[in-house]
Amino acid sequence: MDSTPLTSRAEVLRAELAEALRQHRPLLFDPAGWAGSLIDWALRDVGFRTALFRFIDCLPSLDGGAEVADHLEAYFADGALGLPAPLRAALHLGIGRWTAPVTGAALRHNVRTLARQFIAAEEVEQLPRVLRRLYQTGAVATVDLLGERTVSEAEAAAHLAGYHALLERVVAVPGGDPGLSVKISALDSRLDPIDADRCVARLVDRLRPLLAKAAAGHALVYLDMEDHPLKDLTLDLFQALVEESGGSRLGCVLQAYLRATETDLRRVIDLARRHPGRIAVRLVKGAYWDTEVAVAHQRGWPVPVFEAKGETDQAFAVLAERLLAAADVLAPAIASHNARSVGQVLATAEGLGLGPDRFEFQVLYGMGEGLQTALLARGNRVRVYVPVGNLLQGMAYLVRRLLENTANTSFLRRTFVPDLDESTPQRASRPVMAVAEPEVGFSNEPPLDFSRAEVRAEFQRAIDEVRQALGQSVVPVVGHGDMETGRIRPSLNPAHPEQVVAQVHQAGPEEVATAVEHAGRAQPGWAVTPVAERAGYLRRVAAYLRERRMAMAAWQIFEAGKGWREADADVCEAIDFLEYYATEMVRLAAWRRYPSPPGEENRGSYIGRGVAAVIAPWNFPLAIFTGMTSAALVAGNTVVVKPASNTPRIGRLLVDAFRAAGLPEGVLQFLPGPGSTVGDALVRHEGVHTIAFTGSREVGLAINEMAARTPAGQRHVKRVICEMGGKNAIIVDRDADLDEAVFAIVQSAFGYQGQKCSACSRVIAVGAVHDALVTRLGQATESLEAGDPIDPGSRVGPLIDAAAQKRVQGYWDVGRSEGRLWTQGEVPEEGYYVAPCLFTEIASHHRLAQEEIFGPVLSVLRAADIEEAVSIALATDYALTGGLFSRHPRHVAYVCERFQVGNLYINRGITGAIVGRQPFGGFFLSGIGSQAGGPDYLLQFLLPRTVSENTLRRGFAPEMLA
Ligand code: NAD
Repeated sequence: MDSTPLTSRAEVLRAELAEALRQHRPLLFDPAGWAGSLIDWALRDVGFRTALFRFIDCLPSLDGGAEVADHLEAYFADGALGLPAPLRAALHLGIGRWTAPVTGAALRHNVRTLARQFIAAEEVEQLPRVLRRLYQTGAVATVDLLGERTVSEAEAAAHLAGYHALLERVVAVPGGDPGLSVKISALDSRLDPIDADRCVARLVDRLRPLLAKAAAGHALVYLDMEDHPLKDLTLDLFQALVEESGGSRLGCVLQAYLRATETDLRRVIDLARRHPGRIAVRLVKGAYWDTEVAVAHQRGWPVPVFEAKGETDQAFAVLAERLLAAADVLAPAIASHNARSVGQVLATAEGLGLGPDRFEFQVLYGMGEGLQTALLARGNRVRVYVPVGNLLQGMAYLVRRLLENTANTSFLRRTFVPDLDESTPQRASRPVMAVAEPEVGFSNEPPLDFSRAEVRAEFQRAIDEVRQALGQSVVPVVGHGDMETGRIRPSLNPAHPEQVVAQVHQAGPEEVATAVEHAGRAQPGWAVTPVAERAGYLRRVAAYLRERRMAMAAWQIFEAGKGWREADADVCEAIDFLEYYATEMVRLAAWRRYPSPPGEENRGSYIGRGVAAVIAPWNFPLAIFTGMTSAALVAGNTVVVKPASNTPRIGRLLVDAFRAAGLPEGVLQFLPGPGSTVGDALVRHEGVHTIAFTGSREVGLAINEMAARTPAGQRHVKRVICEMGGKNAIIVDRDADLDEAVFAIVQSAFGYQGQKCSACSRVIAVGAVHDALVTRLGQATESLEAGDPIDPGSRVGPLIDAAAQKRVQGYWDVGRSEGRLWTQGEVPEEGYYVAPCLFTEIASHHRLAQEEIFGPVLSVLRAADIEEAVSIALATDYALTGGLFSRHPRHVAYVCERFQVGNLYINRGITGAIVGRQPFGGFFLSGIGSQAGGPDYLLQFLLPRTVSENTLRRGFAPEMLA
């Protein structure tokens, strides 16, 4: 809570308002009612609160009474929740199946009643009645259209049409001062701050007719503020709209919990001074606190919000004062339900001599009746934020309001439930989210925050610089230095195949022999180099990459056809592997003592296996290449690396980094060249001890077979660490949140054009979810914008080469003969593009459901229930990644147990494993290695040794002396 003392006048006003507020106990806090009693219990029990909100969240997606009853039991029957008897009765627990429909209907009815407290109308047609009632009290309104997350252009167009319809209704109701609040994320499925300029231009076009209609009806249009990544883009858009229209009847929203809001307010005031209209600014505290904190922790970014509630309250007071002081050019709107904050603002306005017509208060529908009445009685202007939309689409909104009301720091909660034990864990006021401790000495490299304009500009400069360096030579490193072979093969840009990224001198079998020989000679010295020193090289390489991270990413755009974000993620992962394996090796290197009775000393340690051959794929051209290489090196092996034929330029960048770090000569040899010659020769060479391979199943199995032979003269058995493909499935349960599922499936299936081993290529739809899922997925697929990955707005780039393009296109015919081509996107003609496509009616035995395609081809299969879904998911040779979208606790538990893949993801996308947090790798025909980026990985490059020493000398044991 804000503890700064109020002025005496503010205190008087606060007390008056608080008293008035108490006269109107909201239904939510009336323990006598159904909703009130649930909320009352939720306030007292965090476990119940979580279960309740999750249950309410999934309720609209449940099909009938039986499903509702089933979920009810799954969420609440757990005795640990310790519900009081009346509540158990209220929830109708322990009922027989025959009453299920009755229970389901009653519950839906009750939750509808709850929702109606916050959602004013389910249909646009009901709005005029709501507005007339509101206007009679003297308040005005700004209406908001609730909706699903927009995942396609069709949905964006529908939402825009919805805003038009809403606006027409609002301006048709006489009286009041009509207002509309618009969420820009609903209007553009391609909205992404990485492509801010084009998004702003597109949204200006989309909003222009709506704003013209609003101007004609004298309506005020606010651009709502959503989560932090969209903030700058929203303000840029707002500025563009003000510049176009002059700014009258336009409003923006500022969130007091953001640390940057002070700066943003200055920007808005400057903007207002330069334009004739009085710009409306709504100041709110901010409604996405949990998300902002969680996302910042997940990405390793600075937390953009104040972490203590009191700081937000203080900032709110300061910002409100600035707003009021600028009331000559702004139309300030103060949005809070907190009597203290409102009292403070009233006192400030009095101090500034600002009449009540110069600013307004805003409250949310259903949350501030008492305050609203009191303020109107004082002669202040009050605008009510009125959400319209059906229950299903308004669920996210309802849950947000419930969270807000039940947070320990909620003013309303404190007013109406004052007896609550304050020592219960504070939800919104605890300083930071409870996060697991990272591995000591290791933390993940944060990805770039492309919502920041300066980051985008710097990245663009890196791309321009790399473009200047295209076409240079890449040569092998053999023996003690560079070796030109004169056998040159160009590496090409898959988006513009005539553009040469590098002229690559190809190694051949002779260079393999020389390189392995040198590596063999260097190995004994390297093996006894202290571990701390070996780890030091990795850390220096990490620092080197970090310093040049944008250029490293830019090279991937040109050579591998990766988009900005994916390229950056690849560099982060490479840095993570270096840091993680350095830390892990230091941990493993210490001698460990085994159980040792008196007179005996048993200890163990590890040594490197010898010479490692690293054979890498092109799809994570820096990350996987770096991961395998650095693990082998730090474990005391010398290494001969063969980059993928398509990405030798990027491979050489890593070798240069190790050189810059001062790695001793001979320890790392670099052999760009074809797999069939260089790779093959490496695998067969008797001087190689370990083969670390990541790539296709065909090659992986061949390598495994070849390495199993032990020719005469080879004094060891080769070990193969082999990571291969996947045929990964996401199961979408009947009750899944489709907003989340569609978004995640599209990302997992079409991110980097589906060229990830972890990519989703099968969707298994459970029961009735199928049709809605396919419709939305299809529209989302059509909405993907394809184009040169150099353009940050393109979501689909080219495939890696012409062969890949031909192979993937070949599956279109297969798909058409096996199932139905539901939809297909569009792509440019030049370059190796393949349009993303969605096939339906695919069955488990079809080739489309069995073969790894490694391109943007997604198949939908049907399952009757969750059990069948899991058996379909398992009916392939692979076991790499898998996913589930479900809100049924028992189904989640079942799938976790039965869906056996290396990496299983619940209610999220299935790509993008993070080193140290999600060790990655599969089994069956997906791999015979242990998971990369995890604690077991390095052991594969090591030989264990145990030393047992007899400590008895002539009958005396030193331990006994002690
Ligand atoms: P690929 O098998 O064609 O090539 C991988 C590497 O092996 C390349 O360096 C290639 O030159 C080399 N190679 C090819 N033939 C060889 C031979 N006869 N002997 C020795 N080496 C040979 O695979 P790719 O196209 O580069 O990568 C895509 C495949 O990799 C997909 O199947 C994907 O699922 C898999 N992959 C798996 C993982 C994982 O962690 N499981 C990660 C990334 C990629």
